[in-house]
Amino acid sequence: SLTESALLDSVPGLLYIGGEWVASESKATLTVSEPATGEVLKHIADASPTDGLRALDAAAASADEWAATAPRMRGEYLRSAFDLLQQRKDQFALLMTLEMGKPLSEAAGEVAYGSEFLRWFSEEAVRISGRYGQNPEGTGQIVVSQRPVGPSYLITPWNFPLAMATRKIAPALAAGCTVVVKPAELTPLTTLFVAKLFEEVGLPAGVLNVITTSRASDVSAPIIADPRLRKLSFTGSTSVGKVLIKQAASNVLRTSMELGGNAPFIVFGDADLDKAVEGALAAKFRNIGQACTAANRFIVHSSVAAEFGHRLTDRVNGFVIGRGTETGVTIGPLINDRAVDKADDLVQDAIARGANLLTGGHRSLRAGSFYEPTVITNVQPESTILREEIFGPVLSIVEFDNEDEAVAMANDTEYGLVSYVFTENLARGQRMIEKLDTGMMGLNVGVISNAAAPFGGVKQSGLGREGGAEGIHEYLSTKYTLIPN
Ligand code: ADP
Repeated sequence: SLTESALLDSVPGLLYIGGEWVASESKATLTVSEPATGEVLKHIADASPTDGLRALDAAAASADEWAATAPRMRGEYLRSAFDLLQQRKDQFALLMTLEMGKPLSEAAGEVAYGSEFLRWFSEEAVRISGRYGQNPEGTGQIVVSQRPVGPSYLITPWNFPLAMATRKIAPALAAGCTVVVKPAELTPLTTLFVAKLFEEVGLPAGVLNVITTSRASDVSAPIIADPRLRKLSFTGSTSVGKVLIKQAASNVLRTSMELGGNAPFIVFGDADLDKAVEGALAAKFRNIGQACTAANRFIVHSSVAAEFGHRLTDRVNGFVIGRGTETGVTIGPLINDRAVDKADDLVQDAIARGANLLTGGHRSLRAGSFYEPTVITNVQPESTILREEIFGPVLSIVEFDNEDEAVAMANDTEYGLVSYVFTENLARGQRMIEKLDTGMMGLNVGVISNAAAPFGGVKQSGLGREGGAEGIHEYLSTKYTLIPN
Protein backbone atom coordinates (compact mmCIF):
# COMPACT_ATOMS: atom_id res chain seq x y z
CA SER A 1 0.00 0.00 0.00
CA LEU A 2 0.98 3.64 -0.27
CA THR A 3 1.63 3.99 3.46
CA GLU A 4 3.99 1.02 3.38
CA SER A 5 5.94 2.28 0.40
CA ALA A 6 6.02 5.85 1.75
CA LEU A 7 7.33 4.52 5.04
CA LEU A 8 10.00 2.42 3.33
CA ASP A 9 11.04 5.43 1.25
CA SER A 10 11.49 7.48 4.41
CA VAL A 11 13.98 4.98 5.86
CA PRO A 12 17.52 5.88 4.81
CA GLY A 13 19.11 3.08 2.80
CA LEU A 14 22.69 4.12 3.49
CA LEU A 15 25.36 3.72 6.13
CA TYR A 16 25.40 6.37 8.87
CA ILE A 17 29.02 7.29 9.50
CA GLY A 18 30.35 10.46 11.13
CA GLY A 19 26.96 12.15 10.82
CA GLU A 20 26.67 11.50 7.06
CA TRP A 21 24.54 9.04 5.11
CA VAL A 22 26.93 7.27 2.75
CA ALA A 23 26.96 4.38 0.29
CA SER A 24 29.38 1.53 0.79
CA GLU A 25 32.80 2.32 -0.67
CA SER A 26 32.40 -1.03 -2.48
CA LYS A 27 29.03 0.17 -3.93
CA ALA A 28 27.54 -3.16 -2.82
CA THR A 29 23.91 -3.38 -1.76
CA LEU A 30 21.97 -5.70 0.47
CA THR A 31 18.36 -6.73 -0.11
CA VAL A 32 15.86 -6.69 2.75
CA SER A 33 12.79 -8.89 2.27
CA GLU A 34 9.53 -9.45 4.09
CA PRO A 35 9.32 -12.88 5.77
CA ALA A 36 5.52 -13.07 5.38
CA THR A 37 5.60 -12.68 1.62
CA GLY A 38 9.19 -13.07 0.48
CA GLU A 39 8.85 -9.75 -1.32
CA VAL A 40 11.68 -7.23 -1.48
CA LEU A 41 11.21 -4.29 0.88
CA LYS A 42 14.31 -2.26 0.12
CA HIS A 43 17.86 -2.37 -1.20
CA ILE A 44 20.31 -0.76 1.20
CA ALA A 45 24.06 -0.23 1.47
CA ASP A 46 26.08 -3.35 2.22
CA ALA A 47 29.11 -2.30 4.26
CA SER A 48 32.58 -3.66 3.51
CA PRO A 49 35.35 -4.11 6.10
CA THR A 50 36.71 -0.69 4.99
CA ASP A 51 33.35 0.92 5.76
CA GLY A 52 33.36 -0.74 9.16
CA LEU A 53 36.74 0.76 10.00
CA ARG A 54 35.57 4.17 8.76
CA ALA A 55 32.69 3.94 11.20
CA LEU A 56 35.15 3.13 13.97
CA ASP A 57 37.28 6.12 12.87
CA ALA A 58 34.25 8.34 13.40
CA ALA A 59 33.43 6.83 16.79
CA ALA A 60 37.04 7.16 17.92
CA ALA A 61 37.34 10.76 16.66
CA SER A 62 34.29 11.90 18.64
CA ALA A 63 34.99 9.84 21.77
CA ASP A 64 36.76 12.48 23.90
CA GLU A 65 34.32 15.25 23.14
CA TRP A 66 31.33 13.04 23.87
CA ALA A 67 32.86 11.77 27.10
CA ALA A 68 33.33 15.43 28.14
CA THR A 69 29.76 16.42 27.24
CA ALA A 70 27.70 17.25 30.32
CA PRO A 71 25.71 14.26 31.56
CA ARG A 72 22.55 16.36 31.45
CA MET A 73 23.17 17.09 27.77
CA ARG A 74 23.72 13.42 26.99
CA GLY A 75 20.48 12.66 28.78
CA GLU A 76 18.65 15.37 26.83
CA TYR A 77 19.64 13.86 23.49
CA LEU A 78 18.26 10.52 24.62
CA ARG A 79 15.10 12.12 25.95
CA SER A 80 14.56 14.03 22.69
CA ALA A 81 15.03 10.80 20.75
CA PHE A 82 12.46 9.16 23.02
CA ASP A 83 9.96 11.95 22.37
CA LEU A 84 10.49 11.81 18.61
CA LEU A 85 10.15 8.04 18.66
CA GLN A 86 6.77 8.44 20.39
CA GLN A 87 5.63 10.67 17.55
CA ARG A 88 6.67 7.96 15.09
CA LYS A 89 5.50 4.96 17.03
CA ASP A 90 3.12 3.76 14.34
CA GLN A 91 5.83 3.97 11.68
CA PHE A 92 8.27 2.04 13.83
CA ALA A 93 5.68 -0.64 14.55
CA LEU A 94 4.80 -1.07 10.88
CA LEU A 95 8.44 -1.12 9.86
CA MET A 96 9.20 -3.94 12.31
CA THR A 97 6.15 -5.92 11.21
CA LEU A 98 7.30 -5.62 7.61
CA GLU A 99 10.93 -6.58 8.06
CA MET A 100 10.59 -9.05 10.95
CA GLY A 101 7.03 -10.39 10.68
CA LYS A 102 5.58 -10.00 14.16
CA PRO A 103 1.90 -8.98 14.35
CA LEU A 104 1.34 -5.20 14.48
CA SER A 105 0.00 -5.33 18.05
CA GLU A 106 3.22 -7.00 19.18
CA ALA A 107 5.31 -4.55 17.19
CA ALA A 108 3.49 -1.75 19.03
CA GLY A 109 4.40 -3.51 22.28
CA GLU A 110 8.03 -3.57 21.24
CA VAL A 111 7.92 0.14 20.42
CA ALA A 112 6.67 0.82 23.95
CA TYR A 113 9.31 -1.46 25.51
CA GLY A 114 12.17 -0.43 23.21
CA SER A 115 11.60 3.31 23.57
CA GLU A 116 11.69 2.99 27.37
CA PHE A 117 15.44 2.35 27.21
CA LEU A 118 15.89 5.84 25.76
CA ARG A 119 13.84 7.37 28.58
CA TRP A 120 15.33 5.22 31.35
CA PHE A 121 18.92 5.93 30.38
CA SER A 122 18.19 9.62 29.77
CA GLU A 123 17.45 9.58 33.50
CA GLU A 124 20.44 7.41 34.44
CA ALA A 125 22.93 9.64 32.59
CA VAL A 126 22.91 12.14 35.47
CA ARG A 127 23.17 9.49 38.20
CA ILE A 128 26.67 8.23 37.49
CA SER A 129 28.55 8.67 40.72
CA GLY A 130 31.32 7.25 42.86
CA ARG A 131 32.41 7.39 46.49
CA TYR A 132 34.92 9.06 48.75
CA GLY A 133 36.13 7.67 52.03
CA GLN A 134 38.98 7.31 54.46
CA ASN A 135 41.25 4.30 54.07
CA PRO A 136 41.30 1.88 57.04
CA GLU A 137 44.75 3.11 58.09
CA GLY A 138 43.49 6.68 58.37
CA THR A 139 46.32 7.93 56.19
CA GLY A 140 44.42 9.01 53.08
CA GLN A 141 41.24 9.19 51.08
CA ILE A 142 40.02 6.54 48.64
CA VAL A 143 38.23 8.17 45.73
CA VAL A 144 36.22 5.96 43.37
CA SER A 145 34.93 7.45 40.13
CA GLN A 146 33.39 6.15 36.91
CA ARG A 147 34.66 6.85 33.42
CA PRO A 148 33.20 5.88 30.04
CA VAL A 149 34.86 2.70 28.81
CA GLY A 150 35.35 4.14 25.30
CA PRO A 151 34.30 3.39 21.71
CA SER A 152 31.86 0.48 21.71
CA TYR A 153 30.74 -1.97 19.02
CA LEU A 154 27.12 -3.11 19.34
CA ILE A 155 25.88 -6.16 17.42
CA THR A 156 22.15 -6.85 17.51
CA PRO A 157 19.87 -9.73 16.39
CA TRP A 158 16.75 -9.72 14.20
CA ASN A 159 14.08 -10.80 16.68
CA PHE A 160 13.58 -7.46 18.47
CA PRO A 161 14.92 -4.94 15.94
CA LEU A 162 14.14 -1.83 18.01
CA ALA A 163 14.53 -2.96 21.61
CA MET A 164 17.86 -4.73 21.12
CA ALA A 165 19.25 -1.57 19.51
CA THR A 166 17.99 0.90 22.12
CA ARG A 167 18.94 -1.43 24.98
CA LYS A 168 22.58 -1.04 23.91
CA ILE A 169 22.70 2.44 22.34
CA ALA A 170 20.99 4.26 25.21
CA PRO A 171 23.23 3.11 28.10
CA ALA A 172 26.36 3.54 25.97
CA LEU A 173 25.50 7.12 25.04
CA ALA A 174 24.36 7.90 28.59
CA ALA A 175 27.69 6.66 29.93
CA GLY A 176 29.62 8.86 27.49
CA CYS A 177 30.66 6.20 24.99
CA THR A 178 30.49 6.60 21.22
CA VAL A 179 29.24 3.61 19.25
CA VAL A 180 29.21 1.66 16.02
CA VAL A 181 26.02 -0.38 15.69
CA LYS A 182 25.68 -3.38 13.39
CA PRO A 183 22.09 -4.62 13.17
CA ALA A 184 21.22 -8.08 11.88
CA GLU A 185 21.24 -8.29 8.07
CA LEU A 186 17.66 -9.62 8.10
CA THR A 187 16.20 -6.58 9.91
CA PRO A 188 18.48 -3.56 9.44
CA LEU A 189 15.82 -0.97 8.59
CA THR A 190 14.62 -0.29 12.13
CA THR A 191 18.14 0.63 13.29
CA LEU A 192 18.59 2.98 10.33
CA PHE A 193 15.29 4.59 11.33
CA VAL A 194 16.64 4.97 14.88
CA ALA A 195 19.79 6.64 13.55
CA LYS A 196 17.56 9.11 11.72
CA LEU A 197 15.89 10.02 15.03
CA PHE A 198 19.24 10.82 16.58
CA GLU A 199 20.30 12.80 13.54
CA GLU A 200 17.12 14.89 13.76
CA VAL A 201 17.56 15.64 17.46
CA GLY A 202 21.05 16.94 16.69
CA LEU A 203 23.26 14.28 18.22
CA PRO A 204 26.85 15.32 17.39
CA ALA A 205 28.37 13.64 14.34
CA GLY A 206 30.26 10.43 15.01
CA VAL A 207 28.65 9.62 18.36
CA LEU A 208 26.32 7.06 16.78
CA ASN A 209 27.34 5.21 13.62
CA VAL A 210 25.37 2.44 11.91
CA ILE A 211 26.73 -0.09 9.45
CA THR A 212 24.43 -2.55 7.71
CA THR A 213 26.12 -5.52 6.10
CA SER A 214 25.64 -9.03 4.79
CA ARG A 215 29.25 -9.76 5.81
CA ALA A 216 28.89 -9.75 9.59
CA SER A 217 32.03 -11.71 10.30
CA ASP A 218 34.32 -10.03 7.70
CA VAL A 219 33.25 -6.56 8.79
CA SER A 220 33.25 -7.22 12.54
CA ALA A 221 36.60 -8.97 12.95
CA PRO A 222 38.76 -5.92 11.97
CA ILE A 223 36.71 -3.63 14.21
CA ILE A 224 37.10 -5.99 17.16
CA ALA A 225 40.83 -6.34 16.47
CA ASP A 226 41.36 -2.55 16.34
CA PRO A 227 43.03 -1.21 19.51
CA ARG A 228 40.80 1.88 19.50
CA LEU A 229 37.76 -0.26 20.30
CA ARG A 230 37.22 -0.79 24.05
CA LYS A 231 33.92 -2.60 24.35
CA LEU A 232 31.89 -5.25 22.53
CA SER A 233 28.21 -5.80 23.27
CA PHE A 234 26.45 -8.65 21.49
CA THR A 235 22.99 -10.19 21.51
CA GLY A 236 22.55 -13.37 19.53
CA SER A 237 23.29 -17.06 19.53
CA THR A 238 25.62 -18.71 22.03
CA SER A 239 27.71 -20.15 19.19
CA VAL A 240 28.46 -16.74 17.66
CA GLY A 241 28.91 -15.28 21.16
CA LYS A 242 31.69 -17.77 21.86
CA VAL A 243 33.47 -16.79 18.64
CA LEU A 244 33.22 -13.11 19.58
CA ILE A 245 34.47 -13.67 23.14
CA LYS A 246 37.57 -15.32 21.64
CA GLN A 247 38.09 -12.41 19.24
CA ALA A 248 37.60 -9.92 22.08
CA ALA A 249 40.28 -11.67 24.11
CA SER A 250 43.10 -10.46 21.87
CA ASN A 251 42.67 -6.85 23.03
CA VAL A 252 41.10 -7.75 26.39
CA LEU A 253 37.87 -5.95 25.51
CA ARG A 254 35.07 -5.43 27.95
CA THR A 255 32.19 -7.61 26.72
CA SER A 256 28.48 -7.91 27.32
CA MET A 257 26.92 -11.07 25.94
CA GLU A 258 23.19 -11.76 25.80
CA LEU A 259 23.10 -15.28 24.39
CA GLY A 260 20.71 -18.17 24.03
CA GLY A 261 18.25 -19.58 26.51
CA ASN A 262 16.36 -22.78 27.25
CA ALA A 263 13.80 -21.39 29.66
CA PRO A 264 11.95 -23.78 31.94
CA PHE A 265 8.32 -22.95 32.72
CA ILE A 266 7.36 -24.86 35.86
CA VAL A 267 3.71 -25.34 36.77
CA PHE A 268 3.29 -26.79 40.26
CA GLY A 269 0.19 -28.68 41.37
CA ASP A 270 -0.75 -25.70 43.57
CA ALA A 271 -0.60 -23.19 40.68
CA ASP A 272 -3.53 -21.01 39.64
CA LEU A 273 -4.12 -22.63 36.25
CA ASP A 274 -5.79 -19.55 34.79
CA LYS A 275 -2.64 -17.55 35.47
CA ALA A 276 -0.45 -20.42 34.25
CA VAL A 277 -2.31 -20.68 30.93
CA GLU A 278 -2.14 -16.92 30.32
CA GLY A 279 1.52 -16.88 31.32
CA ALA A 280 2.29 -19.84 29.07
CA LEU A 281 0.66 -18.26 26.03
CA ALA A 282 2.67 -15.07 26.53
CA ALA A 283 5.94 -16.81 27.38
CA LYS A 284 5.67 -19.14 24.40
CA PHE A 285 3.89 -17.41 21.54
CA ARG A 286 4.97 -13.78 21.91
CA ASN A 287 7.18 -12.93 18.93
CA ILE A 288 6.07 -16.26 17.39
CA GLY A 289 8.29 -17.99 19.92
CA GLN A 290 11.39 -16.22 18.60
CA ALA A 291 12.79 -14.83 21.83
CA CYS A 292 15.75 -15.95 23.92
CA THR A 293 13.36 -15.60 26.87
CA ALA A 294 10.69 -17.81 25.25
CA ALA A 295 9.59 -20.70 27.46
CA ASN A 296 11.27 -23.71 25.87
CA ARG A 297 10.33 -26.52 28.28
CA PHE A 298 7.01 -26.69 30.11
CA ILE A 299 7.66 -28.74 33.23
CA VAL A 300 4.21 -29.49 34.63
CA HIS A 301 3.09 -31.44 37.70
CA SER A 302 1.38 -34.69 36.69
CA SER A 303 -1.78 -33.77 38.63
CA VAL A 304 -2.47 -30.80 36.33
CA ALA A 305 -0.62 -31.67 33.11
CA ALA A 306 -3.62 -33.05 31.21
CA GLU A 307 -5.85 -30.11 32.03
CA PHE A 308 -3.08 -27.58 31.33
CA GLY A 309 -2.43 -29.19 27.93
CA HIS A 310 -6.09 -29.21 26.94
CA ARG A 311 -6.77 -25.64 28.02
CA LEU A 312 -3.73 -24.44 26.10
CA THR A 313 -4.71 -26.41 23.03
CA ASP A 314 -8.15 -24.79 23.00
CA ARG A 315 -6.58 -21.37 23.09
CA VAL A 316 -3.94 -22.20 20.50
CA ASN A 317 -6.62 -23.47 18.14
CA GLY A 318 -8.09 -19.97 18.26
CA PHE A 319 -4.90 -18.33 16.98
CA VAL A 320 -4.99 -16.64 13.59
CA ILE A 321 -1.95 -17.09 11.34
CA GLY A 322 -1.10 -14.47 8.75
CA ARG A 323 0.82 -11.45 7.64
CA GLY A 324 1.37 -9.30 10.73
CA THR A 325 -0.19 -6.26 9.09
CA GLU A 326 -3.62 -7.96 8.80
CA THR A 327 -6.07 -7.22 11.59
CA GLY A 328 -6.71 -10.04 14.03
CA VAL A 329 -3.53 -11.93 13.19
CA THR A 330 -1.90 -13.40 16.30
CA ILE A 331 0.81 -15.59 14.74
CA GLY A 332 3.09 -14.15 12.07
CA PRO A 333 5.72 -15.95 9.99
CA LEU A 334 9.02 -17.24 11.28
CA ILE A 335 12.03 -15.25 10.13
CA ASN A 336 12.84 -17.62 7.25
CA ASP A 337 12.34 -21.16 5.92
CA ARG A 338 15.36 -22.44 7.78
CA ALA A 339 13.64 -21.53 11.05
CA VAL A 340 10.51 -23.40 9.92
CA ASP A 341 12.54 -26.50 9.09
CA LYS A 342 14.31 -26.37 12.45
CA ALA A 343 11.05 -26.13 14.42
CA ASP A 344 9.59 -29.00 12.42
CA ASP A 345 12.67 -31.19 12.90
CA LEU A 346 12.43 -30.72 16.67
CA VAL A 347 8.72 -31.59 16.68
CA GLN A 348 9.16 -34.70 14.51
CA ASP A 349 12.07 -35.89 16.66
CA ALA A 350 9.96 -35.50 19.83
CA ILE A 351 7.02 -37.36 18.28
CA ALA A 352 9.27 -40.14 17.02
CA ARG A 353 10.50 -40.56 20.59
CA GLY A 354 7.00 -40.89 22.02
CA ALA A 355 5.49 -37.40 22.49
CA ASN A 356 1.76 -36.88 21.84
CA LEU A 357 0.69 -34.20 19.39
CA LEU A 358 -2.29 -32.14 20.65
CA THR A 359 -2.39 -29.61 17.82
CA GLY A 360 -0.29 -28.30 14.91
CA GLY A 361 2.83 -30.29 14.15
CA HIS A 362 3.48 -29.19 10.58
CA ARG A 363 4.27 -26.16 8.47
CA SER A 364 1.37 -23.99 7.43
CA LEU A 365 -0.20 -24.46 4.02
CA ARG A 366 0.12 -20.70 3.45
CA ALA A 367 2.92 -19.36 1.27
CA GLY A 368 5.67 -17.74 3.36
CA SER A 369 7.68 -19.00 6.33
CA PHE A 370 4.75 -20.03 8.54
CA TYR A 371 4.58 -22.88 11.07
CA GLU A 372 1.34 -24.01 12.70
CA PRO A 373 1.25 -23.26 16.44
CA THR A 374 1.89 -26.60 18.06
CA VAL A 375 1.35 -28.29 21.43
CA ILE A 376 3.06 -31.59 22.29
CA THR A 377 2.86 -33.44 25.61
CA ASN A 378 4.55 -36.41 27.22
CA VAL A 379 7.87 -35.32 25.69
CA GLN A 380 10.53 -37.94 26.50
CA PRO A 381 13.77 -36.97 28.28
CA GLU A 382 16.16 -37.71 25.41
CA SER A 383 14.26 -35.52 22.91
CA THR A 384 16.35 -32.83 21.19
CA ILE A 385 13.61 -30.24 21.79
CA LEU A 386 14.50 -30.22 25.51
CA ARG A 387 18.09 -29.23 24.79
CA GLU A 388 17.89 -26.78 21.87
CA GLU A 389 16.23 -23.40 21.56
CA ILE A 390 13.05 -23.94 19.53
CA PHE A 391 12.65 -20.32 18.36
CA GLY A 392 9.20 -21.11 17.00
CA PRO A 393 5.55 -21.53 18.05
CA VAL A 394 5.96 -24.98 19.60
CA LEU A 395 4.90 -25.67 23.19
CA SER A 396 6.42 -28.81 24.60
CA ILE A 397 5.29 -30.35 27.92
CA VAL A 398 7.09 -32.78 30.22
CA GLU A 399 5.67 -34.04 33.53
CA PHE A 400 7.15 -34.27 37.02
CA ASP A 401 6.01 -35.63 40.37
CA ASN A 402 7.93 -33.74 43.06
CA GLU A 403 9.67 -30.41 43.59
CA ASP A 404 13.24 -31.71 43.60
CA GLU A 405 12.63 -33.47 40.31
CA ALA A 406 11.25 -30.24 38.78
CA VAL A 407 14.30 -28.27 39.91
CA ALA A 408 16.69 -30.89 38.56
CA MET A 409 14.94 -30.93 35.19
CA ALA A 410 14.85 -27.13 35.02
CA ASN A 411 18.58 -26.82 35.74
CA ASP A 412 19.56 -29.65 33.39
CA THR A 413 20.81 -27.35 30.61
CA GLU A 414 23.95 -25.37 29.81
CA TYR A 415 21.78 -22.25 29.55
CA GLY A 416 20.58 -20.03 32.41
CA LEU A 417 18.71 -17.01 31.12
CA VAL A 418 15.22 -17.03 32.61
CA SER A 419 12.81 -19.34 34.38
CA TYR A 420 9.08 -19.10 34.95
CA VAL A 421 7.44 -20.57 38.04
CA PHE A 422 3.73 -20.90 38.75
CA THR A 423 2.71 -21.68 42.32
CA GLU A 424 0.36 -20.11 44.85
CA ASN A 425 2.67 -21.25 47.66
CA LEU A 426 4.87 -18.30 48.60
CA ALA A 427 7.47 -20.38 50.44
CA ARG A 428 7.85 -22.63 47.40
CA GLY A 429 8.18 -19.59 45.15
CA GLN A 430 10.94 -18.25 47.37
CA ARG A 431 12.73 -21.61 47.32
CA MET A 432 12.68 -21.48 43.53
CA ILE A 433 14.39 -18.06 43.53
CA GLU A 434 17.28 -19.73 45.37
CA LYS A 435 17.35 -23.02 43.47
CA LEU A 436 16.87 -22.18 39.80
CA ASP A 437 20.13 -21.35 38.02
CA THR A 438 18.93 -18.47 35.86
CA GLY A 439 19.68 -14.77 35.73
CA MET A 440 15.98 -13.88 35.76
CA MET A 441 12.72 -15.38 36.95
CA GLY A 442 9.02 -14.72 36.49
CA LEU A 443 6.92 -15.75 39.49
CA ASN A 444 3.37 -16.30 38.22
CA VAL A 445 4.04 -14.20 35.12
CA GLY A 446 5.13 -15.06 31.58
CA VAL A 447 6.77 -11.84 30.36
CA ILE A 448 9.25 -9.99 32.57
CA SER A 449 11.26 -7.62 30.37
CA ASN A 450 11.45 -4.06 31.67
CA ALA A 451 13.89 -1.23 30.94
CA ALA A 452 14.24 -0.62 34.69
CA ALA A 453 15.31 -4.20 35.44
CA PRO A 454 18.66 -5.95 34.86
CA PHE A 455 18.25 -8.36 31.94
CA GLY A 456 20.80 -11.13 31.54
CA GLY A 457 21.77 -14.70 32.12
CA VAL A 458 24.14 -17.06 33.91
CA LYS A 459 26.00 -20.11 32.55
CA GLN A 460 26.18 -20.09 28.73
CA SER A 461 23.36 -17.53 28.47
CA GLY A 462 25.83 -14.73 28.79
CA LEU A 463 27.79 -12.08 30.62
CA GLY A 464 26.63 -8.76 31.97
CA ARG A 465 23.24 -7.11 32.36
CA GLU A 466 21.22 -4.71 30.20
CA GLY A 467 18.66 -2.30 31.61
CA GLY A 468 18.24 -1.16 35.19
CA ALA A 469 20.91 0.67 37.12
CA GLU A 470 23.25 -2.18 36.13
CA GLY A 471 22.92 -1.46 32.41
CA ILE A 472 24.96 1.73 32.38
CA HIS A 473 27.83 0.08 34.30
CA GLU A 474 28.47 -2.15 31.31
CA TYR A 475 29.78 1.04 29.63
CA LEU A 476 31.67 2.50 32.60
CA SER A 477 34.97 1.56 34.11
CA THR A 478 35.79 2.16 37.72
CA LYS A 479 38.75 4.35 38.59
CA TYR A 480 40.30 4.37 42.05
CA THR A 481 42.49 7.26 43.17
CA LEU A 482 44.35 7.50 46.48
CA ILE A 483 44.85 10.95 47.99
CA PRO A 484 47.18 10.78 51.01
CA ASN A 485 46.43 13.09 53.92
P1 ADP B 1 20.56 -15.75 15.09
O1 ADP B 1 20.89 -17.20 15.21
O2 ADP B 1 19.52 -15.27 16.01
O3 ADP B 1 20.43 -15.24 13.69
P2 ADP B 1 23.26 -14.82 15.27
O4 ADP B 1 24.03 -15.02 16.51
O5 ADP B 1 23.62 -15.60 14.06
O6 ADP B 1 21.78 -15.03 15.72
O7 ADP B 1 23.23 -13.30 14.84
C1 ADP B 1 23.13 -12.23 15.75
C2 ADP B 1 23.92 -11.08 15.22
O8 ADP B 1 25.27 -11.47 15.13
C3 ADP B 1 23.53 -10.60 13.83
O9 ADP B 1 23.68 -9.19 13.79
C4 ADP B 1 24.57 -11.26 12.96
O10 ADP B 1 24.81 -10.54 11.77
C5 ADP B 1 25.78 -11.19 13.83
N1 ADP B 1 26.82 -12.18 13.55
C6 ADP B 1 26.68 -13.46 13.15
N2 ADP B 1 27.88 -14.04 13.00
C7 ADP B 1 28.82 -13.11 13.31
C8 ADP B 1 30.25 -13.09 13.37
N3 ADP B 1 30.98 -14.15 13.09
N4 ADP B 1 30.86 -11.93 13.75
C9 ADP B 1 30.13 -10.85 14.07
N5 ADP B 1 28.79 -10.81 14.05
C10 ADP B 1 28.13 -11.92 13.67
